Amino acid sequence: QTSVMWFRRDLRITDNVALAEAIKYSDKVLLIFILDPQQVNKRSTVNQSAFFASVKQLKDDLIHKDIHLQILQGDLISVFSKIKQLLPNWHNLYFNNDENGYGRLRDQKVAKYCREVLGVSSHSFVDYNLHGATEIKKDNGESYKMFTPYFKKWLQLPKKAPIQIQFDDIRQKNMSLSLTNYDGQLNQLINEHHKYAVIDQVGEASANKLLKAFIQNKISYYEEKRDNPMFDGTSHLSRYLRTGEISIRTIYEAVRQAPDGDGRLTFIKELCWRDYYNMIYANYPDQQTHALRSEFQNIVWKNNAVDFKKWQTGQTGFPLIDAAMRQLNTTGWMHNRLRMIVASFLTKDLLIDWRWGEAYFRDMLVDYDPASNIGGWQWAASTGTDSVPYFRVFNPTLQSKKFDPKGQFIAKFVPELARIKGQKIHEPNLLTLVEQKEYGVKLALTYPSPIVNHKLARTRAIAVYEESKDVF
Ligand code: FAD
Repeated sequence: QTSVMWFRRDLRITDNVALAEAIKYSDKVLLIFILDPQQVNKRSTVNQSAFFASVKQLKDDLIHKDIHLQILQGDLISVFSKIKQLLPNWHNLYFNNDENGYGRLRDQKVAKYCREVLGVSSHSFVDYNLHGATEIKKDNGESYKMFTPYFKKWLQLPKKAPIQIQFDDIRQKNMSLSLTNYDGQLNQLINEHHKYAVIDQVGEASANKLLKAFIQNKISYYEEKRDNPMFDGTSHLSRYLRTGEISIRTIYEAVRQAPDGDGRLTFIKELCWRDYYNMIYANYPDQQTHALRSEFQNIVWKNNAVDFKKWQTGQTGFPLIDAAMRQLNTTGWMHNRLRMIVASFLTKDLLIDWRWGEAYFRDMLVDYDPASNIGGWQWAASTGTDSVPYFRVFNPTLQSKKFDPKGQFIAKFVPELARIKGQKIHEPNLLTLVEQKEYGVKLALTYPSPIVNHKLARTRAIAVYEESKDVF
């Protein structure tokens, strides 16, 4: 049996379901990654560079083990036809499922073509999530729309254990084909954003090291400290989960075996949110462009491009919002609490369409995951299935005082405010002229005045949301 193992969002050897199956049932296996023109963005993005850095790392790691990963490029149908031409006895294609978005349609199209035209059977598996999109249903067979009952059921169900794969088995069965290699193209895509340090922190080894450190040092504080961006008590594993450099089963198993404590269950609940959003996106495929709640499909957004630019660049005059956006712009990652606060600010205070925010995050996040990003944005904009109520508008100043009480996170990312002592670091617009001089801040010159009055903006947002409900 000659097979092809097609890597996509599962850039690892350890505990990879499709790879394990391919090795088990084949005599020869060709390992490939395809630069699909439909997915390689013409515009260079941090998200894209980070992803391809992980592909390259997988390739390099495999070279060290004397295993060949072939980097191919082109329209998928042509690539698979070419493989068949060169490898007439190829009969099985293995890959891990994409259950939503472009990936789902792509997989359906490729599987159909392989079956009907090339005579190749596709074998696909749930690997990206602990529970696939169709696995968890209500007793009446319907899909869940609310997180809490979904979580209750999710917790009860057994989880698959990590799978062991021997390198020797892969090495023995691994083969290569004389096809053009596109490693150079890969390097070019990565180099576009080489200034981002995270782009170099790639690979299974980095991911496993991070998991180990999280279990040893952070998980026991996770419940207590995860909302404080300066303490930085979260795992940062999202980046490796979205590329598949670590498997979700490996993480779940490590957490399950960690010493008992509140942090464990809270963390596991976050992993469940990931499955939940995957399920929601699979059930509502037009979610990237449509508000899930029909009553909020008629919101009249203000969509002021100048305000949007100020939000993107961290120049809103709200220190925590600005610190958060600058964290994103300089590191490619943002703390979860801050994602919620900046998304609420964009959609409610500035009345800018959540789709604009979702698209900006898509370009900038090294952990960009369509289901979680769309889910997170629809949650914050109150347009999702189980989202924050529309009348709950985060007060950016109160959130700042609560989650960055000493203003240390602000000082780190908004250095022009770093010298301010006390609580006014959260509200520099309240500085007197004497204080401005003392702390080296010139309001509206070195740091902007707030671009909106939160109190008025809150009232306006609620009215706009209610108007949309009335139209509905
Ligand atoms: P931890 O707190 O260590 O959590 C562990 C893992 O659980 C994460 O790596 C992630 O896989 C999962 N997780 C945690 N919180 C959530 C959540 N709310 N929804 C879904 N999964 C979660 N997460 C992404 O992975 N990609 C995105 O593109 C993304 N966009 C978001 C946009 C908005 C507006 C919001 C509010 C949230 C978004 N999230 C996204 C969810 C969350 O912010 C990140 O998963 C988290 O910050 C990643 O950091 P971490 O790995 O340290 O998280």
